[in-house]
Parts: sequence; structure tokens; C-alpha cells
Amino acid sequence: MRCEDCRKALSARLDGEAEPVSPDEHLATCAACQEWFAGAERLRRALLLRPAPPVPDLTAAILERTPAPSGEGWGLRIALAVVAIAQLGLAFAQLLGTAGGHGGIHFDHESGAWNLAVGIGLLAAVLRPKTAAGQLPLLTGFVGVLLVLSAGDLAAGTVTLSRLATHVLVVLGLALLYAVHRGHRDRGTPIPAATGGDRTTAGSTVDAPVAKRPRPRGFRRQAHGRHAA
Ligand SMILES: [Zn+2]
Repeated sequence: MRCEDCRKALSARLDGEAEPVSPDEHLATCAACQEWFAGAERLRRALLLRPAPPVPDLTAAILERTPAPSGEGWGLRIALAVVAIAQLGLAFAQLLGTAGGHGGIHFDHESGAWNLAVGIGLLAAVLRPKTAAGQLPLLTGFVGVLLVLSAGDLAAGTVTLSRLATHVLVVLGLALLYAVHRGHRDRGTPIPAATGGDRTTAGSTVDAPVAKRPRPRGFRRQAHGRHAA
């Protein structure tokens, strides 16, 4: 038997494959093949025992980026739905003239239209929480101005407390809108610590709107973290 054939058979044995010929007879008598086999065995053991190359554990980061199941956040969204429907009821009452008149029919129509729009917007946020973000500036401005004017009207005695009480709805709606928005945003925001050593974008990530955080950016940040580590 040639050394070459013996070593082919020994290679097959190390790989757990069928040996084309039995190498043992040659191996017992050939010092060169014994040395070669010992070296091959050492190399194989070293390869088997070598720890796997370290890879970053992305489990947490991936879970953070996975959209929440649609059933999540329903507690707040149901509360917002109740307020939205009540707001719509208020709007219809004004539009149909069953609420007390203040400053003429058209003012009632106008404020009725506003209340209706607010109710529709809140319902939209119930069904699609990501639309809450876009409504916040408008509704915050509306509520802010309304509260200031209402305080003035109350001081001047031109409005009753019971009439002002109807504004509680829109204030409550705004608060729930913020809560739904935060809940939706937090479920889609990666926790900076989970991405490991990312010092650059922790703050801006939290503040960024959901729509402006596409997944590819996240993977770039992972790569950046690996280079920095
Ligand atoms: Zn040999």
C-alpha cells in the first residue's frame, strides 16, 4: 500500500466516512504515516475544541424591533374609543341644536364641526395608533387655547361650569391620545442598552417618530457597534 492511499483512508476515518481500503496494516509499519495520522488527529481535535467565533447576541435587539401584536395596547385604545364616541355625541348634539346655543347658530355649527373632527381623529387613533402622533400638535393647540379662553369666560361669567364640563372630554381625549402614542412608540423603540455600546443615537432614537426609524438603519447601527467594540 502506498502512503498516499493509507492517508486517504485515514482521512476518511477521521471524517467518519467509509474507508476505501483498510490503512491499519500499512500504518503499523510506516513511521511517516503514523506521524501524519497523529498530526491530523491533533488538528481535528483543535478544530473541534476551538470555541465558535463570537457573534453578537441580537435576540433582544430583534425582539425590540419586532412590531407588537395588534392586540397590544387595547386598554388605552378602548378608553380612547369611549372618549371619541362621547366627543362625537357632543358634536352631533351641537350640530343638531340640542345643546344650548351660545353666540348664534353658526358658532354652534362651527364648534360642532370641530368636535366632530376631534372625535373622528380620536377614533382614527383607536384603529391606527400611529396616527396619534400626527394629531398631537393640532389637538394640543386646540385644548391649550380652549382652556385659556374658558378660564377667561369663566372669570367674566359668560360661561357656566356645566358648559365647561363638556371640555373635559377633549382634555381626556388628548391625554389618552398621548398615552396611546407613547405606548405605540415605546413598543417600536429599541432599548439603547440592548444594542450594546451604542453611544451616538440613544437620545435621538427615542425621540424619532416611528416612521423615521426604518430597519436598515438599525442594522447599520449594529455594524457600527461591532466595529467600535
Ligand atoms: Zn506510509
